[in-house]
Amino acid sequence: MPIDAKQPYDGQNIFARILRGELPAKTVMESEHSLAFHDIQPLAPIHVLVIPKGEYVSWDDFTASASEAEICDFVRTIGEVARMTGADTQGYRILSNVGKRGGQEVPHLHVHVFGGQPLGPMLQ
Ligand code: IMP
Repeated sequence: MPIDAKQPYDGQNIFARILRGELPAKTVMESEHSLAFHDIQPLAPIHVLVIPKGEYVSWDDFTASASEAEICDFVRTIGEVARMTGADTQGYRILSNVGKRGGQEVPHLHVHVFGGQPLGPMLQ
């Protein structure tokens, strides 16, 4: 069920629980402010989720409230994931669903990194 991106941060969401170590995740990389892990239901051979460690629901929330260090770290992590998975050599797609109409299911900001196959005009 897509979420309202303007809802207050829910500390019990799945990604918050992964960050606290309460739920397992297949980590690709971790940095000071970000975590990258494999999607539990991959839609492509490479399907990695990148999340900031801070409590942000949406891009508008993140870019209004996060520090430059957090924002820079998050963007760098996305690129690093592309290099680490080999997606950089063949092309990849990054996608971020925000809010009800954007189809966001988990109320913690995340970016999908898709790759490993030719990607059609839209994946999700
Ligand atoms: P959204 O629709 O952009 O919010 O995507 C949420 C993504 O989180 C979906 O692709 C899910 O498969 C993924 N997901 C949900 N729970 C877990 C989990 O526990 N580990 C990894 N990925 C998850």
